[in-house]
Amino acid sequence: MSGAASRALACFTLIAGSVFGQSFYLSNDAVPRKETVELTIDPARETFEGSVSIDVELRGLDSTIWLNAKNLTIGSVFLVVGEDTIYPTEVIRRSDERIGIEVGDQTGRVAIQIAYQGRLDDKALSGPYRRKVEGEWYAYTTFAPIEARRAFPCFDEPRFKAPWDISIRVKRENKAFSNGREISETEEPNGWKLVEFATTEPLPAEMVAFAVGPFDIYRGEPAGHGTPVRVITAKGHAAEGHAAAQATAAILPRLEAYTGIPYAFGKLDHLALPAGAFGAVENPGLITYRTRNLLVPPNQESATFAHAIRALQAHEIGHQWFGNLVTQASWDDVWLSEGFATWISNKMMDQEEPPERLHLAAIAARERMMEVDNPARSRPVRIAINSREIALDVYNRVVYEKGAAILLMLEGWLGEDRFHDGLRAYLNEHRFGNATTDDLVAALRAASGGVDTSRVLNSFLNTVGVPELRGQLLCDRGAAPRLRVTKASPGAVPVCWRADRVASSCTVLEGPSTEIALPTGTACPAWFYLNSGGTGYYRTRWTQAPLLALRELTDAEKLTLVYDFRASKNTSAQAALARLASDADPEISNAAREALK
Ligand SMILES: [Zn+2]
Repeated sequence: MSGAASRALACFTLIAGSVFGQSFYLSNDAVPRKETVELTIDPARETFEGSVSIDVELRGLDSTIWLNAKNLTIGSVFLVVGEDTIYPTEVIRRSDERIGIEVGDQTGRVAIQIAYQGRLDDKALSGPYRRKVEGEWYAYTTFAPIEARRAFPCFDEPRFKAPWDISIRVKRENKAFSNGREISETEEPNGWKLVEFATTEPLPAEMVAFAVGPFDIYRGEPAGHGTPVRVITAKGHAAEGHAAAQATAAILPRLEAYTGIPYAFGKLDHLALPAGAFGAVENPGLITYRTRNLLVPPNQESATFAHAIRALQAHEIGHQWFGNLVTQASWDDVWLSEGFATWISNKMMDQEEPPERLHLAAIAARERMMEVDNPARSRPVRIAINSREIALDVYNRVVYEKGAAILLMLEGWLGEDRFHDGLRAYLNEHRFGNATTDDLVAALRAASGGVDTSRVLNSFLNTVGVPELRGQLLCDRGAAPRLRVTKASPGAVPVCWRADRVASSCTVLEGPSTEIALPTGTACPAWFYLNSGGTGYYRTRWTQAPLLALRELTDAEKLTLVYDFRASKNTSAQAALARLASDADPEISNAAREALK
């Protein structure tokens, strides 16, 4: 997901106020194993017909199966037991968000078949909805996080991943798209046809997508390990998809190379939405974007647009590993999707920069996050999501930006290679399944020779605020030099530091202070720096600027220093900022000039 915050608020405001009589979450007593959906959609009509057959494993003794459904008019309901025993049954209870179906004393595997009618709102930004574009009607979907239930009865939580068989009956003049590739198109009477899509890999309901209308298609070259790429536009706009297809050709191979896992979802379509709750949504096989983020007339293509769409696709296609191949087990851990997608977009885009500019974009984004990371203006990355109203906040900016900054810090602390190994192991171990923050911790521990990241992660994910560190060199006559590091806030902080003629090393500061002995035989260093690599999510409070060090620092460290100075506002900071204002890198000099104002 991209560009969530403001539009999501607008959209959720429309649907807030619903009443929950029960827990927000479904029980563990019924687990979906496959969902088969057949829809009949004419976007010119405000309703559509659907039928689902959901294979369910019953694990408990509850005589009612609960599943999510919202604003659906339920028709017939059947329970299928074994090969061919079919019982009519019924919805015996319902609330705004779910229906309860009577299954008696059945256990094991059953199938629930439900026929229903749903709505294609022409004002909504989420669920299934429709819009008129240049005189033609189109149907679209935006489900994340909890609106798939408006399109079909389903188990609408990220932990319930199952394969989906989707087919859509449409008028012959229309096209239909979904996550899977089209496998057949069958003519039907009265001007209809049935379009059938390949079974998907296991997906949570919120990542299912479809679209119906007189679309046009721009066909790109296959990307990476041979993935077919298309850009799907409103009628007459296919040529505007060229830049997006070019971006995929550049980005997909980089992501495959980094993860070591080929793109897993068959084909890759990018579809333009005239309206939606988000800037883009990463549905596997059918990523959707607001039109202006995806399409550009060929004569208006520019380097700026091309860069922006590569960065956006690096986020959305990055989700195909972080979020789709491996899905957070609950929305509480949505940072495992959005933090990673934000982090990996920066990483992929850094590959286009000269090496000295490594992390500069991520550090600038981190600074924008740090400026608001206080209790008055922010919230923790991880909060419990337990109502539709709190679901309002699932895609809060902090989940993206602080989540990404925490990953940058972990990478700097553990080292790029060990972090990379840990992520590959995490993706392989949980491929097509779910994972939690604890699973990430376990993978990083194994890859790093036993480093436990859990206390650091809990500190940074569960609390608001930016730790502030102070450092002091202790060079007493007759004693080996030491570096004292202190902080005022609670929580564990991985501090990576270096000093004149002392290579970088990291220590986890758990309490208020620690003293680190410098390597034996080290003379008192002329300078030290408390955020080596510039990757830490903390500020250093400098009482005396490390002026001597400026020419020894990397660009990432200098940019971090500019932001530290700006926050500290003391006189020695002003002198250092004046020097940094003439730095050769425009990101650093501009930030320093800005800080001097
Ligand atoms: Zn995202």
